[in-house]
Amino acid sequence: MKIIMLGAPGAGKGTQAKKIAEKYQIPHISTGDIFRANIKGGTELGMKAKTFMDQGMLVPDEITIGMLMDRIGHCINGYVLDGFPRTIPQAESLTKALAERGEKVDYAINVDVPDENIINRMSGRRACLGCGATYHITFNPPVKEGICDTCGQELVLRDDDKPETVKKRLDVYHQQTQPLIDYYKNAEVLAEVDGTQPMDAVFQGIVEILGE
Ligand code: ADP
Ligand code: AMP
Repeated sequence: MKIIMLGAPGAGKGTQAKKIAEKYQIPHISTGDIFRANIKGGTELGMKAKTFMDQGMLVPDEITIGMLMDRIGHCINGYVLDGFPRTIPQAESLTKALAERGEKVDYAINVDVPDENIINRMSGRRACLGCGATYHITFNPPVKEGICDTCGQELVLRDDDKPETVKKRLDVYHQQTQPLIDYYKNAEVLAEVDGTQPMDAVFQGIVEILGE
């Protein structure tokens, strides 16, 4: 099963991708998490990515596409991609790479959340840079404030979740990423869920799309 998560930053792609990965036993691949791990590790890739991420911009396709292709190269049983593709050239590269192996994306799931809900979601998001888990101070708090339930590391407000950066990220989303909805509609693999519902209800909608 090859699944893509579409939706604005903060729509809940990562939250749902984790649940999908667990239920269907496929890897959850988040380009944002890969970049953040590289920033934490002080790699050259991380340093390059950070300048773009901190400004709410996309990391250039030349960097992102190669990185993602390396990561999925050995995933024969499928995956759920979270945060990739984010541009038409990224989507075209993925389509082409899969077609060369006689494969295709099976589902592109658009988690639909209007802009007015996004700022609240992002300012309350707390991230674990250790294991990639995501919380929300109101909608999904950790058991112990500021500490990851899964790995015990300290939770942080991501630099790019500050309101001024979130506005920029939403602009970038509308300009560069939203056109992918039509791209995958034309490929006849688009499915939509109402992302304003509580997390479990959103997941229920996704299970109805993917099947038990
Ligand atoms: P994305 O991966 O699309 O950027 P996340 O999955 O990290 O988004 O979710 C953004 C924030 O919103 C997180 O703090 C998360 O806990 C919270 N969140 C996710 N889904 C919902 C939901 N259905 N209702 C309320 N809050 C949610
Ligand atoms: P995310 O964790 O998905 O919210 O991504 C955080 C940031 O990482 C984005 O705002 C971009 O700067 C960068 N990023 C993640 N995925 C991509 C991608 N597919 N293309 C370009 N930049 C990306």
